[in-house]
Amino acid sequence: MSYNVLKFGGSNLKQKDDILRIVNVIGKYDASLVIVVSAFYGVTDILINAIEKVKNDESSIKELTDSLLALKKETLDEVIDNVTIREEIFEAVKTRVKKLKRYLQGVNFFGDTPAFVNDTILSYGERLSSLMLCEILKYFKIDAEEILPEELGLITDGEFLNATVDFSISAKNVKAAVKNKKIVIVPGFYGVSAEGKTTLLGRGGSDYSAAAIAKCINASSLDLFKDVDGFLTADPRYVKNPRRIETLSYMESAELSYFGAKILHPRTVEPLRQAGIPIRIYNIATVEDLSHPLTTIQRASNVHDDVIKSVTFSDDIGILKLKGAGIGNKPGILSKVTSAMDHSGINIKSVITSQTTINILIEMSQLKKSAELVKSLDIHSVSEIIAEDDISVIAAVGNGIMEKVGLAGRIFTAVSLKGINIEIISVGASPVAAYFIVKKTDRAATIRAIHDEYVK
Ligand code: ASP
Ligand code: MG
Repeated sequence: MSYNVLKFGGSNLKQKDDILRIVNVIGKYDASLVIVVSAFYGVTDILINAIEKVKNDESSIKELTDSLLALKKETLDEVIDNVTIREEIFEAVKTRVKKLKRYLQGVNFFGDTPAFVNDTILSYGERLSSLMLCEILKYFKIDAEEILPEELGLITDGEFLNATVDFSISAKNVKAAVKNKKIVIVPGFYGVSAEGKTTLLGRGGSDYSAAAIAKCINASSLDLFKDVDGFLTADPRYVKNPRRIETLSYMESAELSYFGAKILHPRTVEPLRQAGIPIRIYNIATVEDLSHPLTTIQRASNVHDDVIKSVTFSDDIGILKLKGAGIGNKPGILSKVTSAMDHSGINIKSVITSQTTINILIEMSQLKKSAELVKSLDIHSVSEIIAEDDISVIAAVGNGIMEKVGLAGRIFTAVSLKGINIEIISVGASPVAAYFIVKKTDRAATIRAIHDEYVK
């Protein structure tokens, strides 16, 4: 049996029209479907804030659950005309919210949230979405069935907040669970540990859930529905008339999303690459013909002359600079620093060393903490520690960037000619990307310089 896996994100779940669009899209398929859904827009953030509040404020439990119920009721009122059916669905929603309420009461009672309780509570945004969507589809005569990740047997490595799917166990489970089913609805964002505990797959992780399921059942495609027009050659805020990119390789799309492009969660391609399952991206507001996705991500095609496909950037990264004479050559320093960071849960994006400086790129939210950590290590040969937060990482991405002799150097020159000072350039860490670190104030001009000269 062949399946398409579809994923609808929070941005597809904001208002009445969104639900009707989803119903319309599903009607376009002939094959069997597994549909993965995110929480309705903003609901995960609401739950995150609620957990904090609930710890020492019992009344906020009712506030939260009432407001969630009101949101769901509003959607049902808009979409379902039949009063009896509407009430039946609302009853089912209430039952699920009651469970959430009990977890929240536990948090309030203990004044604390153990990791497994935290992950369970945060999964309720998705659990409510999938229930709602499944029931609404049934109302529209689409024969859908909800299967939760714990019922699918989507097993993870058990790491809370940021788990990874264990395919050696999950593949056969998931295959068996969806066998002979026509339309299955699955809440995204979580799997379960071998002991059956809910483990989240990281913020924005529903894309990854969908990719993992697609891999488990060897789907013919993973179709992502967005509210934007696929991948573009650059951010339209900085470049006039960027173009849509029709095809990207797995690696190109992974690099673009790792350093900035918000359209795809960076982990999405990881499960699909080996199996060669294509990712097709559509704009839900305009999708007509499924055979014409806006962007398709697939195995690399041949390297052609117009190597650079897209320029992206991230402002969410800072640099921690460790300075010291000959520091780049001294054994042991880097490993000492990185293992300390690893222990403290600091996520290193990249490391670039020179003779006198070790530059560690770190998520902005962890920059200060990492500087303090390195200070506390009191490493003899580190004479100065600088945390720079006013930088932007610009990535030029394209298959073959490394094979094109001198390309990165030419880009460097093109940018310099605009009077921009590139602080660091990094080529070679990825075969499909070159990185340029500039001051934030130079971000827009750098993107334009690279885009206008090299993205054809
Ligand atoms: N709802 C989750 C989040 O906001 C997962 C997702 O949207 O993909 O992080
Ligand atoms: Mg998302």
